[in-house]
Amino acid sequence: MRTRVGIIGAGPAGLLLSQLLRQAGIDNVVLEDRTRAHVEHRQRAGVLEQNTVDVLRACGAGERMDRRGLRHDGIELRFHGEGHRIDFPSRTGGRSVMVYAQTEVVKDLIALSERDGGTILFEAEAKAVEGADTDSPLIRYVHEGEVKTLECDFVAACDGFHGIGRRTIPPGVLRTWEREYPFAWLGILADVPPSCDELVYAHHERGFALHSMRSPQVSRLYLQVAPDENLDAWPDERIWAELDTRLARGGWTLEHGPITERAVTPMRSFVAEPLRHGRLFLAGDAAHIVPPTGAKGLNLAAADVTLLAAAIIRWHDKSDETLLDAYSQTALRRVWRAEHFSYFMTTLLHRDPHQDAYGYRLQLAHLDYVASSDAAAASLAENYVGLPVV
Ligand SMILES: Cc1cc2nc3c(=O)[nH]c(=O)nc-3n(C[C@H](O)[C@H](O)[C@H](O)COP(=O)(O)OP(=O)(O)OC[C@H]3O[C@@H](n4cnc5c(N)ncnc54)[C@H](O)[C@@H]3O)c2cc1C
Repeated sequence: MRTRVGIIGAGPAGLLLSQLLRQAGIDNVVLEDRTRAHVEHRQRAGVLEQNTVDVLRACGAGERMDRRGLRHDGIELRFHGEGHRIDFPSRTGGRSVMVYAQTEVVKDLIALSERDGGTILFEAEAKAVEGADTDSPLIRYVHEGEVKTLECDFVAACDGFHGIGRRTIPPGVLRTWEREYPFAWLGILADVPPSCDELVYAHHERGFALHSMRSPQVSRLYLQVAPDENLDAWPDERIWAELDTRLARGGWTLEHGPITERAVTPMRSFVAEPLRHGRLFLAGDAAHIVPPTGAKGLNLAAADVTLLAAAIIRWHDKSDETLLDAYSQTALRRVWRAEHFSYFMTTLLHRDPHQDAYGYRLQLAHLDYVASSDAAAASLAENYVGLPVV
């Protein structure tokens, strides 16, 4: 089979890239290792930056998001049992975020592809990328029990952290940076209306907690736990009791309900450079990971492919490679800003088990500064709603 752009991975990055290219008349094929049901139901992110909302609307995937998504104009920082709201529009020239689950973004993009005659092959595992440093790279993949070949002009590795794309780049070319955190998130989905209108980020001496939501009927809540935490040690009553303690605020009650999903997610920061090797391009989690505290993972993936699509379209329409040559540097500048913001939010809000008493007081002083200084709050708001994709 031959196509212009071979895309590995039907996560948000691969699906959005496919849609942006198809809209510009550029033929592409998406290869996805897992089943459609699996990718449509994998619980992950849920906060969309203004840029992500804008690009989803522009590519025709915004209709259901605009009906069912929840626009949020701020977040609450909760510490010492008190809430401090950070308003976004007043500090960012009117920008905000949208709470809309990654599962729904993925469903919308797959439905759009199906409607427009796009090609997504599910249960098609990419095994190798060959000839990345030539003008005609190819992907070898296994589909329906047979080894097949996808020839293309470009390969986009949107295959997540464990994919094969990044590993295709020779070790001498690729540099990586990594940080592991000494904690993880125990996340639950619960069939209970959210107990608050906006996300609550709680700093507590027992550890961080987050109250988020997926819809007016479904709450998403997280607790900081140890990286090797055993889920069996967390029956429902213990989870709710711990959330009650860490999220406590005078006059406010956390509503409990049936827990429908639970999982422990480790926290990691990771960046690989460069994002290009010949005609192979990395985008999304294939190239970088952030701890989820800043709500940036899905948004960075969307920003990467917005830039990559523009570069491929310029090459296709005008035989101009300037944007392709600039892709790695342009995307990485934004990636590193988001890496820093995610690190900042993570270290501001979590209890580090190795932290001394002095470090703890510094953390509280910084929280107090963000809650009381317009300049500090504006910086948080600007980063949270997302910097422009330039
Ligand atoms: C458990 C978990 C929870 C998360 N929670 C949050 C959150 O609360 N907030 C937040 O902002 N971010 C969160 N994230 C991060 C966010 O979900 C990711 O940043 C986002 O999914 C990145 O999209 P992507 O398309 O780059 O990668 P992915 O969504 O990982 O998609 C990659 C796709 O490639 C496929 N693939 C891999 N290898 C191959 C192969 N060889 N051949 C074919 N296909 C392949 C995979 O099956 C997958 O479908 C979470 C991530 C995880 C793992």
